[in-house]
Order: sequence, then structure tokens, then C-alpha cells
Amino acid sequence: MIEFAKITTRLVTEFKKILGNNAVVFDDKDALENYAHDETGGEYYSHMPEIVLKPENAEQISKVLKLASAEHVPVTPRGAGSGLAGASVPIYGGIVISFERMNKIVEIDKTNLVAVTEPGVVTNDLCRKVSELGLYYAGYPMSVETSFIGGNVATNAGGSKVIKYGNTAHHVLGIEAVLPNGEIVQFGGKRRKDSSGYDIVRLLVGSEGTLAVFTKIFLNLIPLPGKTVDLLVPFPDIHTAISNVGPLITESKTLPSAVEFIDDTSVVLGSKYNNIRLPYQEKADAYLIVQYEGHDRDELESIYEKAGKALMNGKAMDVFVADNRTNSEKIWRIRRNWLEGIKAFESHTPTGDVVVPTSKIPEIMEYIAKISKEYKVQIPVAGHAADGNLHPAPMKPKDVNLGEWKELSEEILSKIAIKASKMGGAVSGEHGIGFVKKELLKKTKNKQYELMKSLKKTIDPLGIMNPGKLFDPQ
Ligand SMILES: Cc1cc2nc3c(=O)[nH]c(=O)nc-3n(C[C@H](O)[C@H](O)[C@H](O)COP(=O)(O)OP(=O)(O)OC[C@H]3O[C@@H](n4cnc5c(N)ncnc54)[C@H](O)[C@@H]3O)c2cc1C
Repeated sequence: MIEFAKITTRLVTEFKKILGNNAVVFDDKDALENYAHDETGGEYYSHMPEIVLKPENAEQISKVLKLASAEHVPVTPRGAGSGLAGASVPIYGGIVISFERMNKIVEIDKTNLVAVTEPGVVTNDLCRKVSELGLYYAGYPMSVETSFIGGNVATNAGGSKVIKYGNTAHHVLGIEAVLPNGEIVQFGGKRRKDSSGYDIVRLLVGSEGTLAVFTKIFLNLIPLPGKTVDLLVPFPDIHTAISNVGPLITESKTLPSAVEFIDDTSVVLGSKYNNIRLPYQEKADAYLIVQYEGHDRDELESIYEKAGKALMNGKAMDVFVADNRTNSEKIWRIRRNWLEGIKAFESHTPTGDVVVPTSKIPEIMEYIAKISKEYKVQIPVAGHAADGNLHPAPMKPKDVNLGEWKELSEEILSKIAIKASKMGGAVSGEHGIGFVKKELLKKTKNKQYELMKSLKKTIDPLGIMNPGKLFDPQ
């Protein structure tokens, strides 16, 4: 078991020399507290950093990591702290590196169709900026308004558009990173192809701050799709809803940019929270939200007519079309605010993140319903139907105390995650492992787990990078 060193006043002085006084937070409980947790929830998933550093460039980070290596102090990179697996929580104390001051879009290269950003850019700020130039960044987690590009890359974030564009890994062409020994290295870049050996860019994506600190990210851009149309589709049951996903794609001959799913409990809570009523709310057991992108209205009309026909043939109760911003917003509000909507009624609601092959969604939903009955716990579910990624959210019953709830909710989510893995899925589809799911990683990844650990040992032999995430410190 690794023992880490503590931050000393000598180190604080060194860090102030490197970064300037204002970029170092030390000995200020209230200010440090802001960096002690992410959105995983509750005091159980929180730990105070000893010091927070706010660098402005890779050279400063390099000097910090050289010192951290020499002194054997743990380092936890932190984006916006919107994570749902505790990945940015400094569970061994030490240094938190916050990227809030590294928030510049360095370049939008219209010739190569590449954006180069610092890690602290809010994802939606990049989306907006490139759209002004007729371009599109296709990464779109539901937390797009808050999360940072660096955090998205480090968790390989997904979201609603994965069926058409893939997850964050698909958009990353290159990463400039500082290795634990302080070396600054650029992997990949503006080139679109590279068959020269192992793909280290792909290895860094999803590494949750355990291998290196990203200081610059090269992202693929595509032309901005002109217009969108959204369909709200109620179904009598989950099985019917999910069995529509495949035919919808083949019969409309177009990949939707999203096919989202919400169950009846989520709709009841979401409609109260957002003060909206959805059509068929009393009768429907599940809804799909389908989005298409196209160049103009005519193209979209032809797509949604084919899609509507396919859905009605597939026993949808109705198909509601929103082709203007106001109606689209109404359709999306419940899905986008899904977690907030549930937490407004029960704040102690952790979020699962399982993924299964799409055809297995009805089976995992049946299992979730069984677990819900067995444990007498309400578990609303929403997710990305087109890629099989579901978020079960067990809500604390009133008669269970908080201490018991931590164990109980973890047991519930573990059972669901292991079942998903056995169905050919995985224990995390997009939120990552952090420290909350590290036992599940061990239980389900077998040989891959051992290989992951040996890669970590090679790149971070002293084990200072975000210790306790993915694995226990070795
Ligand atoms: C309401 C809500 C909706 C969400 N919807 C989605 C969704 O649709 N899809 C999805 O995938 N996730 C979703 N999430 C989860 C979360 O937003 C994502 O995991 C996001 O990618 C985290 O980004 P962040 O900037 O907040 O990173 P943080 O939570 O701060 O950190 C996450 C990880 O990234 C590492 N990290 C951050 N920056 C760097 C860097 N520069 N170098 C190295 N490592 C770094 C951290 O060490 C940590 O391991 C949602 C969360 C909320 C609260």
C-alpha cells in the first residue's frame, strides 16, 4: 500500500513561486471545500484536498508535477466537477489541479477542420463558437452547459448523439499532456490518420486523470447540420418502445442524432418538476425522444414522415413532431433536466450508468423492475436508447436513514451493473469508474483489468496521478 507525503509549508512556497499567490488555495477550508466533491452526491463521496492549484499553462503544470513526483504527493486533475463517479474527488488529499483558468479556445482551424482548446473550456462554449463559423463539435453530454472539454475527454463522455457521431473518443485527434514526471508530450494532433504503432491518444481518452494531465486538446469539427426536428413518441410499454429503435433507423434510412428513452416514473417526476404535461401521460409506460438533423425543412419532412410511419407500424401510441425551437425545448426539457427533476423530490439519488447491447434493454429494464420490488425502492430510469446506455436512479425511501442508504444504494446499483456486464454490456457506459465503481471494474474486466494496471504502472510508476481511481494504489 502506497503512503503519500503531505503538503508542507515549504511546498506551498514553491507552488506560489511557480503559479503566483492568487493561483494557490491553501489553509482556507471554505475555498478548498468547493473542490472536495463532484456531482456523485453526499458527504460519503467527498474528500478535502490539501491544496488547490490553478495553473495557466503546461509549463507551470510540468513544474508542479516534477515537484509532486519528487515529494510523492498525489495529484488530482479537476474539470468542472460535474462527474458522477467521484473521479475528481481527491480521496488521498494532496494537490487538486483545477483548469478553471485554462479556458481558452486556442485555435479554430477552418482548413483542417480542427479546434484546439485548453482543457477548461466549457463544452457548450466551444459548440457555440464553432457554430458561428458554420462548424459543429459533435460531443454532447447532457452536462454540456457546465462540463469542461478536458473532463469530457478524461471520462470519454457520451451523451445523446453517440448513435450518429460516437462518444468523445471519436472526436479527439490529439492531446498535449504532461506526464507524471513533468515531461510535456503531444500525442496525435491535426492529422486525421496515424497507423504508426499503439494509439496512445485513445488510451489517454477515458483515463480519468490517472495517467497524465491534459493541457491541450485537438478536436475534430464537421459542417454544422442546418436544421433539426424532434419527435416525441409515447409507447404502451418499454419492450415496444425499444423494439422500435432498429426498424426506425433502417426504415427511415437515416441515422437519428438522438434516440432517448424515459420511463413512466421519470415522466411523472419530470412533469411535476418542469411543470409540463406530456401527451398520453396517464397511459404511456415509456417515451422515446428522436432527433434528426438535415439541411433544410424539405429533407427533414421526408425523414420524419418515413420515421413516423415506421414508429406507428411499430405500435407507437402517437408521434408528435416539433420542428421549431419552442416545441423542441418542451420535448427536451424533461429529458435534459431528468436528474435535477428526480433530485428535487429526493436529493439522495445516486445515478447508475450501465450499458447493454440495445436489444437487451427490455431485459435489463425487467431486472431493474425486479430489484425495485425486491428492495422496495423506486428506481426511475432514463437513457440513450440508441446506444443501450441506461441510468437507473434509486431514490432513498423515507424510512431508510442516510448511513444505511449509502450501502443499500451501492448494492442495488452494483447488482444492476453486474447483470448488465453479464448481458454483454459494461458497468459504465459514459460516466466512468472513479472510485465509486472500482470494485465493479475489477469484478467484470478480468484480464483487461490486469493490463490496465500494468499500463498505469508503466506511465505513472510512482502512482501519484489521481490515486484510488479505477484501481487501489499499487
Ligand atoms: C446533470 C448531469 C448530466 C450529465 N450527463 C452526462 C451525459 O449525458 N454523458 C456523460 O458522459 N456524462 C454526463 N454527466 C457526467 C459528467 O458531466 C461527465 O462525466 C463530464 O465529462 C465530466 O466533466 P467535468 O469537466 O465536470 O470533469 P470532472 O468531473 O471535474 O472530472 C472528471 C474526470 O476527468 C479528469 N480530468 C478533468 N480534467 C482533466 C485534465 N485536463 N487532464 C486529465 N484529467 C482530467 C478528472 O481527474 C476526473 O477523473 C452528467 C452529469 C450531470 C451532473
